[in-house]
Amino acid sequence: MEAQPTLFRGGRLFDGDRFIDATDLRTDGLGRISELGTDLEAQDQERVVELGGRWLLPGLVDCHVHFREPGLVRKEGYLTGSAGALHGGVTTVCEIQNNPPLMETGEVMRKKLADLRGVSRVDYAPYGSLTEASLPTLHELVGLCPAVKCFLGCSTGAGGVKDEATMRALFARAAEVGIKIVAHCEDNRVMDAAAESAEGDQVERHDYRRPVEAEVQSVRDAIRVADEVGAVLHVFHISTAEGGRLVAEARAAGQPVTGTTAPHYLIADAEEAAAIHENRFKVNPSIKSIDNQRGLREMVGQRLLEGVGTDHAPHPLEEKARPYAKAPAGFPSIDLLLPLLIAIADDADEVSLEAALASVTRIPADEFGLSEKGRLVVGADADLVITDPGAHFVVDEATLPSKSKWSPYHGRELRARPDKVWLRRRLVNEYGQEPAPPQGQPVGPAATALAPV
Ligand SMILES: [Zn+2]
Repeated sequence: MEAQPTLFRGGRLFDGDRFIDATDLRTDGLGRISELGTDLEAQDQERVVELGGRWLLPGLVDCHVHFREPGLVRKEGYLTGSAGALHGGVTTVCEIQNNPPLMETGEVMRKKLADLRGVSRVDYAPYGSLTEASLPTLHELVGLCPAVKCFLGCSTGAGGVKDEATMRALFARAAEVGIKIVAHCEDNRVMDAAAESAEGDQVERHDYRRPVEAEVQSVRDAIRVADEVGAVLHVFHISTAEGGRLVAEARAAGQPVTGTTAPHYLIADAEEAAAIHENRFKVNPSIKSIDNQRGLREMVGQRLLEGVGTDHAPHPLEEKARPYAKAPAGFPSIDLLLPLLIAIADDADEVSLEAALASVTRIPADEFGLSEKGRLVVGADADLVITDPGAHFVVDEATLPSKSKWSPYHGRELRARPDKVWLRRRLVNEYGQEPAPPQGQPVGPAATALAPV
């Protein structure tokens, strides 16, 4: 389907790595970027969008979201989750199924990919599930997903791998079929011991019960076992400076190990997480000390981590408001991804604006094999975000499009709200208006696995 070619003119353009000299960008009728330059002349039949000095960014790539579909759409679903994504400037999601049915076979994955057509407002590349049950069928997932998710520690909807022999069997099988592992790293034994020794205030301190050492131990073990069996490993949502350092060291030594962190580990700290009401910042892994925040900021600033993913994990507020022990972990955040990254760059000397923007565009796109996403270069998909960096706003949780309608960032002043968002051929979102009908497609390996429509 053809769309009208468009010339975007007079903006500040970020190409996925840095702000560039070009001020203008042209898209073709197929929804790809066809030209970058300065003072480009409008052609016949071409629509012109005047940027007036605003920023033009590649659509963000969120490499870690939970949309709960199929199976738990009362909590979210792709229709609302992807509306939140557009609001946050995100045009591509890599999504993790952490409720039944897990993505353990090719058949289940193909059905999911097909069913999301006409439902998702953003392009999607869901991960497969690496579990004991997936072992006989894991090869079926090759070519359908960018990686397979393994829970090494217990978390929402997953008990965690029970021992090292099991981890080795899972990692070896992934290596055998040639698929990347994405892992949640927290060590259950360390967490059990912490829970047992907790006294007084510690009993309800999430950072005490899920301590630094739980992540560090698990990351260390995962890197060692991945090396032994030849697996490619990506550690998700790194919450500790030491965990990040272990990943960077292994990579520097030549091992195929990478990692991402999440916005909340860069913007909040354990004291704030403990003080906020209704367990809003209760998340796995826990939000750690200010020292860990600083260490992670340095690594993002130096581009030592392979990006930032939200870990958008929606729950109804009445569930979060239960007593600490009964409240589920995770919170919605995709609706605010771009403004949150800008806030991190504004607040952190360690993180430049360009490093912050790269962490949610080109870096995760490259990490998960989405070479047509997350960049403003000729030939890339024309996924585009226009934002006015000088426009400040106060987060009002009731107005966020994803389903939960609450946010740990409620009341915070942020800037750079995405004003308009294009997905390939079309303008799909304007701030304050209903998004366009869903036009998301499978991308990455899955793009060629299903018959095109
Ligand atoms: Zn997650």
